[in-house]
Amino acid sequence: MEESATIKMTQMARDLAAKGHQVISLSIGEPDSDTPQHIKKAAMEALEKGDTKYTPVPGTLALRKAIVEKFKRDNQLTFTEGQIVVSNGAKQSIANVVLALIEEGDEVVLFAPYWVSYKEIVKLAGGTPIEVKANITQDFIITAQQLKDALTDRTRLIIFSSPCNPTGSVYTYDDLKSLVAVLKDYPDVVILSDEIYEYINFTSKHDSIGCFDEIKDRTVTINGFSKGFAMTGWRLGYMGAPKWIADACNKIQGQLTSGAASFNQAAAAVALNSSLEPTHEMRKAFQTRRDIFVKLLSEIPGFQVNKPTGAFYVFPDVSYYFGKSINGQTISNADDLALYLLEEAHVAIVSGSAFGADECIRLSYAAAESELREAVSRIKKRWQSLVDWSIGG
Ligand code: PMP
Ligand code: GLU
Repeated sequence: MEESATIKMTQMARDLAAKGHQVISLSIGEPDSDTPQHIKKAAMEALEKGDTKYTPVPGTLALRKAIVEKFKRDNQLTFTEGQIVVSNGAKQSIANVVLALIEEGDEVVLFAPYWVSYKEIVKLAGGTPIEVKANITQDFIITAQQLKDALTDRTRLIIFSSPCNPTGSVYTYDDLKSLVAVLKDYPDVVILSDEIYEYINFTSKHDSIGCFDEIKDRTVTINGFSKGFAMTGWRLGYMGAPKWIADACNKIQGQLTSGAASFNQAAAAVALNSSLEPTHEMRKAFQTRRDIFVKLLSEIPGFQVNKPTGAFYVFPDVSYYFGKSINGQTISNADDLALYLLEEAHVAIVSGSAFGADECIRLSYAAAESELREAVSRIKKRWQSLVDWSIGG
């Protein structure tokens, strides 16, 4: 199992900053705003009231009720409280499902580019990751035919995120419908739909694959508080799942970590039951930054950029630069490029290799506009040297 590339890169950026360098970190996927005040206040009130004890393993009833309502309100998904499991982050929710379902030899289809941890968690469980790759010319959206070609009689699970980390692509209703048309013929395959970026969606609508009748009884919908409510440090995620999967995850979590923190859950219920206005404001701010950032990045020669419709990442194809050298240093791949940018420009990004796309890099635009402008200007300067040097030499 590999170390998490997003976390590794972010730590390298922190280390460099600790040495006194002005590092711009666009490596971690984390909203740059603070958790909205009403949510923080709810956690403080819960602490004051003595809400400091162990919680039920799958989450407090109050939070699970709020999640049931949220799924109904936002996603037209129907669950009972017994089908909800709250975890210490969506990362744990994903791990619970994979550990519950996957045994040695089982195949798990991952839509590439995929989020870093899917593949490593599958490997940890002894499963075999099968990557189906969508490239930038198809806007990183997997087609029904591609999915069909990847499914075998050993496929147990498929995992994808929409809006997608790292590409920012959003699967529309029609995209999902065509995938469902394939999946209906594979009744033993479970679908894990990671919707943690649901609220950071610049299209008119978020669609959940779990809404389709053909597969609703074998779809696990995962979400969390990290992105939409700027609560990364609180460590809270959740799933709505078929009862047998929820029960298995409950059992696993009961042996590994128990229930999530008590006062966090009290605050999370308030987050879901309150107006989403702060979330919508955050989304609007991301959209403005996306427009600026995509425009700036597109002006860099050799940089192939598409316009993401969700999340807060841009995932350009930078293969144009591979094989080019500067000052005796050859850039062979995206890993070299990421390291080069960190060391020379002090801009931290993540290589696409960790996301199953060697030709790309991921830049998060969850940062101040001034930082985004400065990052692009630094990259441009280095890129220009790379281009000049290669042409000249
Ligand atoms: N899924 C995706 C696609 C993510 O980007 C993240 C990022 N943290 C997670 C799951 C896990 O989120 P958390 O554990 O912070 O809830
Ligand atoms: N999901 C974020 C990212 O992709 C946070 C880091 C992590 O958990 O890997 O950067």
